[in-house]
Amino acid sequence: MSAKDLADARIDAGWIIPVEPAGTLAEHALIVRDGRILDLLPQPEADTRYAPARHTRLPGHVLIPGLVNLHTHAAMTLLRGYADDRPLMVWLREHIWPAENRWVSPEFVHDGTLLACAEMLRGGITCFNDMYFFPEAAVEAALQARMRIAAGIIVLDFPTPYAADPDGYLQKGMALRDACKEREGVSFCLAPHAPYTVGDRTFEKLLVYAEQLDLPVHIHVQETEDEIREGIANHGQRPLPRLRGLGLLGPNLIAVHAVHLEPEEIRLLAGHGCHVAHCPTSNLKLASGIAPVAALLEAGVNVGLGSDGAASNNRLDLFAEMRLAALLAKAATGRAEALPAGEALRMATLNGARALGLEQDLGSLAPGKRADVVAVDLGGIAIQPCYDPVSHLVYSAGREQVSHVWVAGEPVVEAGACRFVDEAELAHKAQSWRHRIAGG
Ligand SMILES: [Zn+2]
Repeated sequence: MSAKDLADARIDAGWIIPVEPAGTLAEHALIVRDGRILDLLPQPEADTRYAPARHTRLPGHVLIPGLVNLHTHAAMTLLRGYADDRPLMVWLREHIWPAENRWVSPEFVHDGTLLACAEMLRGGITCFNDMYFFPEAAVEAALQARMRIAAGIIVLDFPTPYAADPDGYLQKGMALRDACKEREGVSFCLAPHAPYTVGDRTFEKLLVYAEQLDLPVHIHVQETEDEIREGIANHGQRPLPRLRGLGLLGPNLIAVHAVHLEPEEIRLLAGHGCHVAHCPTSNLKLASGIAPVAALLEAGVNVGLGSDGAASNNRLDLFAEMRLAALLAKAATGRAEALPAGEALRMATLNGARALGLEQDLGSLAPGKRADVVAVDLGGIAIQPCYDPVSHLVYSAGREQVSHVWVAGEPVVEAGACRFVDEAELAHKAQSWRHRIAGG
């Protein structure tokens, strides 16, 4: 009898959904070594082949890849519910931007991002693509919570408490990127806020960085009809054709929202290999509209899912976004078969990883990838019986069913609680921020 192979961990589950290949594995084990997935195999075979240091048995659970939140402003959890029920431009110009100018600081970003990380990890999100000021404070919070962050090198043409001008934003972001080169779990995107807050000269500079450093470009685009009208008035064309003229459309572009698209703009995004971050709850809450997701997917555009910030959602919950995306696509097209459950799960995992250029490591449960894994308990009475765990994840279960989360094989959520965040202390901090902000 040959000796068994050593492994750091073995997780047995009633079902495992790798995402790629599609389908469900019943009664399998996932084997972890050195932070990566070593093997996926039937449990009796795992008994004979591996000698794991830790063995977790979850017979009533399903394992899925860690969810990838493709668009957030994590620190804005501190403004959750601060200004609701207003259209985008009123909400931004009269409420959010003034509050940010008054309150945003490294301390605000750290505390707000840590609060977001705790919420996201407990809901099965292991990686988030962030766009906010003082990204160095967001990176510190994510590392503390043991969560992956794609930090945005945010750029605007106007001054904020973070930077005075476009060069200031870029220099600060690039210095942070240099400082984080060796840090596992941290990657970067260029993050020009939107076509209406960034001018052509700044875009030209960003393009040089994007091409030289092969960085994704994460930008809000064509979120509202007003934005398009304003773009035509100020630049003589709609935002997407303007970005094409500037050379920004390509496989590095992550177009956030993309709610209002002409058919030729869908072809433009597909033809250039662009990615879209679909944020259905935020689009509904700000009355922006419903993005043509089914048409984008049919055209071959890679579409991931984002929560947007907690000031416009107001939860950072990709289970809710998967369900809403699937339901909206059906109603918007009049076709119940549009955006099936498996496609929604793929959007929340592998498609997000692809958009960030991280699909070699993240987004599916495959040997060689990082062991970012989420266990969802399908045993509760409210979700009985289970014919198909993929359907259950999208239409029946919610983030409250997430029981365990591992990042690079390390348990970061156990028994529904974060291991590296003092949740009581964090809740107290959030309440003290609310006192300060509400007190003005
Ligand atoms: Zn946003």
